[in-house]
Amino acid sequence: MHKILEDTHGRTVSYLRVSVTDRCNLRCTYCAGEGQEFIPHPDILRYEEILDFIGMVVDMGIEKIRFTGGEPFVRKGFGDFMIEAAKRYPDLDLCVTTNATLIKDYVKPLAEAGIRRVNISLDTLDPEKFKRITGRDHFAEVRANIDRCLEAGMRVKINAVAMRGFNDDELPAFVEFARENPLDMRFIEFMPVGLETGWDDATVWKAEEILTEAETYAELVPLTEDDKCQHGPARVFNIKGGKGRIGLISPYTNHFCGTCNRLRLTSDGNLRTCLFSDKVYRLRPVLRNPKLGLAAVEKILKKASRHKPIGHDLLERMPAGQGVCRTRMASIGG
Ligand code: SAM
Repeated sequence: MHKILEDTHGRTVSYLRVSVTDRCNLRCTYCAGEGQEFIPHPDILRYEEILDFIGMVVDMGIEKIRFTGGEPFVRKGFGDFMIEAAKRYPDLDLCVTTNATLIKDYVKPLAEAGIRRVNISLDTLDPEKFKRITGRDHFAEVRANIDRCLEAGMRVKINAVAMRGFNDDELPAFVEFARENPLDMRFIEFMPVGLETGWDDATVWKAEEILTEAETYAELVPLTEDDKCQHGPARVFNIKGGKGRIGLISPYTNHFCGTCNRLRLTSDGNLRTCLFSDKVYRLRPVLRNPKLGLAAVEKILKKASRHKPIGHDLLERMPAGQGVCRTRMASIGG
């Protein structure tokens, strides 16, 4: 396979995040919030359109696709769609990011279809705080579904948005959770993406601070060079004597844009080349125009990839007190 999605900074794109819906059954304050307007159904890419798009990007060197949302399992038929994608593209590394509230009945069928990995978002281990941050009372389902995924033999990564004043008092519990369960407990720095998310610099619980404190609760052993490549931008540590691991993702304090290999497709068919930029390439009208279609989309993709920005340049120019981009994470897919 020759890699053809390259940019002017010498980066090669091999990873695509595909959001299948902007709707979510949770209302996390920092992500979707309440009272959002949703994309009308006719503007959402149909599953067949997404499958054809995937076929095209696989030929362009994309090796990994992560489905996301909104909440992917809110969209009707998502589990079956993912199984179909796995069948159609068996060599593709397919995974999903979910809040795990609705995954229960799909865990086994997905595992049987070869989906071996799932990322689950969970910002707190306290049911009351869960209700406060998500606006919904679903902690028990999420917790039970994490166990179901582990029992089905999936590799589970738990993602918590690290927020000062919200979950920074829970680090001992998070470390214990990772010690007792064979999963990765990862902390993602709160990002200034979207407006009115409650973000300001003081709310960012920084990766270095988390690491220093976590080391007082457990002996953390960095991964070997061989293991590291499976973790993208995350810094991951084994817990000595424990079953799981601790991971740190620092999009705010650490510059890993230099190795960014991602593109994002939103559910209404917009291509985004950087999480920190509002620039979009509108693929849906091109895709749906019989005179243009996938051949024209391919050209746009190559051009867009070439001009992929360095996100941290945008972050450094962010106006004080504002988000770096206007669109909320729920519409982009994280
Ligand atoms: N509903 C799915 C879920 O909960 O994982 C997928 C979509 S959600 C937008 C994807 C990820 O983005 C979640 O892990 C969420 O916590 C994260 N996220 C949303 N807003 C964020 C922010 N402002 N900073 C950091 N991560 C954020």
